[in-house]
Amino acid sequence: MSATAEQIIRHDWQSAEVQALFDLPFNDLLFKAQSIHRLHFNPNEVQVSTLLSIKTGSCPEDCKYCPQSAHYNTGLEKQRLMEVEAVLKKAQEAKAKGSSRFCMGAAWKNPNKRDMPYVLDMVKGVRAMGLETCMTLGMLDEEQAGQLADAGLDYYNHNLDTSPEFYDKIITTRTYGDRLDTLQNVRDSGMKICSGGIIGMGERKTDRVGLLAQLANLPVHPESVPINMLVKVPGTPMENVEDLDPLDFIRCLAVARILMPKSHVRLSAGREEMSDEMQAMCFLAGANSIFYGECLLTTPNPEAHKDMQLFERLGIKPEQAIVDHDDDGQAEQLNKQVQKADTAQPFYDASV
Ligand code: SF4
Repeated sequence: MSATAEQIIRHDWQSAEVQALFDLPFNDLLFKAQSIHRLHFNPNEVQVSTLLSIKTGSCPEDCKYCPQSAHYNTGLEKQRLMEVEAVLKKAQEAKAKGSSRFCMGAAWKNPNKRDMPYVLDMVKGVRAMGLETCMTLGMLDEEQAGQLADAGLDYYNHNLDTSPEFYDKIITTRTYGDRLDTLQNVRDSGMKICSGGIIGMGERKTDRVGLLAQLANLPVHPESVPINMLVKVPGTPMENVEDLDPLDFIRCLAVARILMPKSHVRLSAGREEMSDEMQAMCFLAGANSIFYGECLLTTPNPEAHKDMQLFERLGIKPEQAIVDHDDDGQAEQLNKQVQKADTAQPFYDASV
């Protein structure tokens, strides 16, 4: 395969072509994914973000994997929308300890009018610190997307979750079309898109094909593609779903890398249950973004210092954020944290 051929960014992937990638021998698939990865990224850099839950639980949606849904009793501690000052304090701490992007998540069907001014102030405040900003607040209409973009929000996260065919087995309170409409509103507003899905929810292999083809065939690829491994939370309908073969998860990352060569593919929820060796293989497959900190919204995430120790063992450096409002040496700070990672003390307490 020539470099030129592989640099073509396609939006017309057919299911059979995507299936053929999944069907490749594992080593061939990883080699192909890593070869493409190297055309577009430094293979020894990984982007790191911090995630804060700004409003937790009592969500009216019925996503069957989610402990924040009001439909399931998971014993989750609920929390109203945080005060702007408290969010900014968390962002400041994350920045001081080396984060380049600060993501804020609220368990809403969609933001309501009353909450928007607070949310917009959070975006402005975090951005003023020189951090990249990301939010996930549920569905957005055109006006809300425009307001967030005007406030300076860089990324909006809205996952497709799974294939269109499997979607109604996972969520019944909104449609796949609703999801696509929000993504369109985000794109039209000029913000970057973070959108991916969850693997291991009992979906068929064809649903993984369907999810990745949907993402890759959007008019513009999401700049960030989180691929989550289901965290089976007791109390949710997914608590007893069959275990996923870890190699099948890695295949998904590799195929995502091949289909969306210039996107950051994020190794997202489920890392807590992955060995260091599995995470290393995920990076080899083309994953080049993680959340760090102790919590990933409401499910456990490996402690930050453990992540940095793994980075050091693998010779990986945190990627520097390319932001026009970046005002200092964040990468330098992050690299210092990597060097400090072999100390016993965690450098980041993400008590979100
Ligand atoms: S995944 Fe998001 S929208 Fe779905 S129940 Fe959880 S918080 Fe609500």
